[in-house]
Amino acid sequence: MTRETVILAETRIKTDSHFRGNNGKGVMPKASKYVYFFGGGKADGSAQMKALLGGKGANLAEMTRIGLPVPPGFTITTEVCTYYYQRKHTYPPELSKQVEGTIVRLEELTGKKFGDMKNPLLVSVRSGARESMPGMMDTILNLGLNDKTVEVLAKRSGNPRFAWDSYRRFVQMYGDVVMGIQAKGKDDHEPFEEIMHTLKREVRVEKDTDLTAGNLEELVRRYKQLIRRHTGRDFPQDPREQMWGSVGAVFGSWNNDRAIVYRRKYGIPHEWGTAVNVQAMVFGNMGNTSATGVAFTRDPATGRREFYGEYLINAQGEDVVAGIRTPHPIADLAREMPKAHKELEKIRHLLEKHFKDMQDFEFTIEDNKVYMLQTRNGKRTGLAAVRIAVEMVQEKLIDWRKALARVPADSLAHVLAPVFDRVSRHEAERAGRLLCRGLAAGPGAASGKVVFNAEDAVAMAHKGERVLLARIETTPEDLRGMIAAEGILTARGGVSSHAALVARQMGKVCVCGAQDIHVDYATRTMRVKGRTIREGDALSIDGTSGEVFQGQVKTAPSEIVQVLVTKTLSPKKSVIYQQFATLMKWADQVRRLNIRTNADQPDQAANAVGFGAEGIGLCRTEHMFFGGNRIDAVREMIIAETTEARQRALAKLLPYQREDFIGIFRQMKGLPVTIRTLDPPLHEFLPNDGEVMRELAEKLGIPYEKIAARVAQLHEANPMLGHRGCRLGISYPEITEMQARAIFEAAAHVQKEGIKVHPEIMIPLVGFPKELQLQLEIVHRVAKEVEAATKQKISYLVGTMIEIPRAALVADEIAADAEFFSFGTNDLTQTVLGMSRDDSGSFLPAYTEHEIVKANPFASIDQTGVGKLMKLAIEAGRKARPDLKIGICGEHGGDPASIEFCHRVGLNYVSCSPYRVPIARLSAAQAVLKVNEAQTDGVKRRRSAGRISSRTK
Ligand code: PEP
Ligand code: MG
Repeated sequence: MTRETVILAETRIKTDSHFRGNNGKGVMPKASKYVYFFGGGKADGSAQMKALLGGKGANLAEMTRIGLPVPPGFTITTEVCTYYYQRKHTYPPELSKQVEGTIVRLEELTGKKFGDMKNPLLVSVRSGARESMPGMMDTILNLGLNDKTVEVLAKRSGNPRFAWDSYRRFVQMYGDVVMGIQAKGKDDHEPFEEIMHTLKREVRVEKDTDLTAGNLEELVRRYKQLIRRHTGRDFPQDPREQMWGSVGAVFGSWNNDRAIVYRRKYGIPHEWGTAVNVQAMVFGNMGNTSATGVAFTRDPATGRREFYGEYLINAQGEDVVAGIRTPHPIADLAREMPKAHKELEKIRHLLEKHFKDMQDFEFTIEDNKVYMLQTRNGKRTGLAAVRIAVEMVQEKLIDWRKALARVPADSLAHVLAPVFDRVSRHEAERAGRLLCRGLAAGPGAASGKVVFNAEDAVAMAHKGERVLLARIETTPEDLRGMIAAEGILTARGGVSSHAALVARQMGKVCVCGAQDIHVDYATRTMRVKGRTIREGDALSIDGTSGEVFQGQVKTAPSEIVQVLVTKTLSPKKSVIYQQFATLMKWADQVRRLNIRTNADQPDQAANAVGFGAEGIGLCRTEHMFFGGNRIDAVREMIIAETTEARQRALAKLLPYQREDFIGIFRQMKGLPVTIRTLDPPLHEFLPNDGEVMRELAEKLGIPYEKIAARVAQLHEANPMLGHRGCRLGISYPEITEMQARAIFEAAAHVQKEGIKVHPEIMIPLVGFPKELQLQLEIVHRVAKEVEAATKQKISYLVGTMIEIPRAALVADEIAADAEFFSFGTNDLTQTVLGMSRDDSGSFLPAYTEHEIVKANPFASIDQTGVGKLMKLAIEAGRKARPDLKIGICGEHGGDPASIEFCHRVGLNYVSCSPYRVPIARLSAAQAVLKVNEAQTDGVKRRRSAGRISSRTK
């Protein structure tokens, strides 16, 4: 078995079980119509039927209905795919009759027949899932050709070269996809490509297009030999056998390794299945009046409203996407085929008007006539998503609520991603390190060590290296490597090549079609204008300009960051900033959740406020312990053997902490600031290196042995569950006292300056109400003392984190004393799951692979487990204290799915790192829209079921 077939076999076993998930026995689909026809201006299906017909099938039907030139064909539904996996790779008994009937319809409409010796029907067979999975599944073109019909095609078209080229492509695709002849190792060439290469060498031509009809006929002969040698079977001549073979292969490709990886990454359910589209062929490779291309109604990289895309004259669709030849920009078509270009411009406007979103479409021009082969909502970068959404509102194509829903919240991270630092870039250029330019396919700047295959990219990234993946062109096989890499560089392929599409979707920096680069997989090097770059050498790419630099080039913040954070750019000068600000304004209009930030330094707080934070949700005071030389006082406090000695050390720390809080309060100008008392186990502050221990002994004037003994004493087997959180404040109340004093004195100081201050003191790791009560006593006592001494009233709250299961279980008792809760979902996840947050990295990848967990529970809330406990705590807490303020400050506070959950369960705020604040604002707005939409849908459903009378409107 080849590696590929092993993977296929394994994944079949693995994923066939997805389909068993429903009831273990498999379910017979209810509907018995499995085949939907489209053609001649009529279609059985429509754009609304994506679940059944897949995105491609539904939109082919829709385009047919609105009068666009779509070659006729039919769609076999996703239900057949479900059936196929539930019933050991068989089809519903009705299917073959339905397909036969539809083929007759297709033959009548086209006037062609399968295997006909006068006018043979040729079709394509393509996959089409509910959500597009570009390049992940299989496609077969030119089906219906055989040793006889190829001659008919040659005669009818008067172009034997075209006929034989079409036939050799078909044999190659069929051999690869249906009969499983593929490259074995990561450094191997595709067997069919190798044969083509050899022949080209023999007949001394460079380009595929230079091969003559005779050469191509010879190529077909060699391909067929290869198939016989590898499989022991002949290439099938019967078009019906070819069709069923291809249909089976497309259904089979739903479960190939890369499709599974893709679905996992993008959360597409395995149960959905793919549809299969069988469609009459039109030919872009019929000569110089034919072409094929991919286009976007707007620029998918920048969002600019201009016709964007590329085409190849005398080629078939796969040539453009596969990146084998570098296509021409669509603007050139206006010169080369003006009539077709004009027609495409018309179609472009019609598509946007009808689908009300940026479309990514495939077309073929056969002898100057345009045909539409596909349209779908185009994948786009974060930058483009913002621009398109905002401009479509200005153009009155959509309303602002729809615009909000259109921008994937996570993609804003891309908008805030760095670009090359101008000075560093200039220096690199002056030093002659600008190697070449390719096509700007995925904006942003990336620098890293170059690798030449996906496996090495994964391995090196796993070791913590930043890598750039350089390939001649990428294929779906490279997906894992592309995920692992910071950026992707290809030597061939255009802006809609596989590399470009996938990179944009993942928000990766990408330069493609850098033709001056010559990659040699065997020696793991690449040559550029006489220079050789080896695996592991530093390389930098700019996916906004297409530049490729040798060595490292420093990066600088995005325009939005330059406006909001570094304040080095005027808002008036940045269009993308203005659009971003508009989108954020809309988000703030609908969201209910407040957005806070996790910050411990005034500059972090300022950045977060710039991004729209409405307070600090978590200030980890221990982070302040490492600044300057205060760590010495911290260590002195830990080493101290008596309360008095500890108090002396704490007195040294007090002014530092007070200054820190003054800085933060000033910066936050009256916004709430949640400050957590000391949390980590004390050993984290002590050195364990002998040399540093000796230095500390000297500084503190204490014998080395004493330090070493204290370090040993503080050692814990399970520090995460050990002497930390409020347990420290229970053992050493003077620590809490010092911190409370620092907070209140800082508050009084800043208030005196005329700035409002709202501290919220938060006690960590509480599990017993008494723990909180003991800490509260200290905080309230110190507050009174400071108020008396400063003659100022300070408005403050004291609350707790809910981060161990006991706290959630007794939330009602805790709420009797706590004025607010903040879910510490990092610790709550580790304690509910019994999974160490520091050690789970070693087994979580396997857990995701086996789909034990849908997502990393430390990144996205485990809603059914941890979430259930949160709901319990919220309900109990609010029962005891109806006005209880509840937030979240674990890492999940910046994750869109978790934010939606927080909205649904009624939290008051989420708190996340400063750069995720815009993402949280948008996610919170999207959560409102989603819940509203679900409610409206529910009402509609119930109304149509007659349960709500129209009077209750
Ligand atoms: C938490 O546990 O979620 C939390 C915010 O605290 P830390 O990460 O500091 O333990
Ligand atoms: Mg915690």
